[in-house]
Amino acid sequence: MFKIRERIEADEQSALAPYACKSDESLGRIHRETPHPYRTAFQRDRARIVHSAAFRRLDGKTQVFLNGTGDHFRTRLTHTIEVASVARTIARALALNEDLTEVIALAHDLGHTPFGHSGEHTLDRLMRAHGGFNHNGQSLRIVTLLESQYPRFSGMNLSYEVTEGLRKHDKTLTAPDGTTHLSPSLEAQVADFADSITYTAHDIDDGLDSGLITAEALDEFPIWSEARMFAEREFRKLDPTERRGYIIRCIMNHEVEDIVINSAKAIKFARLKSVADVRKQKKRLIQFSPETRSGNAAMKKFLYKNLYYNPAVAEANQRGSAMLEALFKRFVETPSLIGRKASRRIKKEGLHRTVADYLSGFTDRYCIEQYQALFE
Ligand code: MG
Repeated sequence: MFKIRERIEADEQSALAPYACKSDESLGRIHRETPHPYRTAFQRDRARIVHSAAFRRLDGKTQVFLNGTGDHFRTRLTHTIEVASVARTIARALALNEDLTEVIALAHDLGHTPFGHSGEHTLDRLMRAHGGFNHNGQSLRIVTLLESQYPRFSGMNLSYEVTEGLRKHDKTLTAPDGTTHLSPSLEAQVADFADSITYTAHDIDDGLDSGLITAEALDEFPIWSEARMFAEREFRKLDPTERRGYIIRCIMNHEVEDIVINSAKAIKFARLKSVADVRKQKKRLIQFSPETRSGNAAMKKFLYKNLYYNPAVAEANQRGSAMLEALFKRFVETPSLIGRKASRRIKKEGLHRTVADYLSGFTDRYCIEQYQALFE
């Protein structure tokens, strides 16, 4: 009637860059579906992520600080929403497809275990003889297999461009027609960098809030000190909370600007004419300037040492991971304890993989509850 989807698709064709992914040129879904009257393919993918149980569970999963230990700390869900917001800004500035980059950002952490990276390492160790475990691979398993709300297929049957964006560590990517390529879309690359911009900034924020790191220690790093000086030039007097918030805002703003300017240069230099040209690139074109890249690396090292591996953070997550380990062993011993839906997968996926799929979906709270129910 109103041809809403067709209108959005036409807008994309005229407004986006030639090397942006257009939703009407998507390489498609595994199972064919009739196009939706009001939503483009990527808008439909976004809805599938947002309405999934795996997405809702992100609310109960630790980002860095054990979930529920402070009122202001990020969870996986609030982290994910921040990543999507930053990703959209960068995509818009580069005339890329905002909807696609948003979907990839919203899906990027779906595969995380409870208790942050400590939980992930524990599960990986327990799965060593059975193919290992990592959250990127798990995000892909969730969207292609585990989430089951649609009667016609398992998983969410997302567009190829979304699953391509979740294969972050694959050296070569295989398109639906069987051809291989090296680089994912620029939208996928943007989502990836938005993740790193976001967590560097908000981990500094949460780290300061917790008192585990200090502003004085951060002053050794140009990422912080330059943003601090900028904030102080703009506002002479700020109360400490406003000051911290504004410096964090300046860090993010600076990094977004840096990546937009540098990526625009790299894109121009590569003379891209299409998405196919993007996929042929050997190197990622979305990139920071060398100064920002090395500044971020130094900051990351500091955060690892002083925040992520700080006993106050690490010990709580390790206690949780010990519960995860005990549950893993118990479920392998007694598979009848795992959920009915999950146990139907044992035959095809194997017992250990099924237990890992089941456990990795737990929120922190549910993991503690299950542990208490079985062991206490
Ligand atoms: Mg992330």
